[in-house]
Amino acid sequence: MRINIQLQCTECKRKNYATQKNKKNTTGRLEVKKYCPWDKKHTTHKETK
Ligand SMILES: [Zn+2]
Repeated sequence: MRINIQLQCTECKRKNYATQKNKKNTTGRLEVKKYCPWDKKHTTHKETK
């Protein structure tokens, strides 16, 4: 089962990325390092709804 989520930058709080995750495989909140165009660097992005 796939659900749509958004990834929010932990530094500027902007939602930069949209992705999907599989609820069966991914437990807890998704956390990924991605490039934030607003901070102009890689930051941690966390799952939000
Ligand atoms: Zn940012």
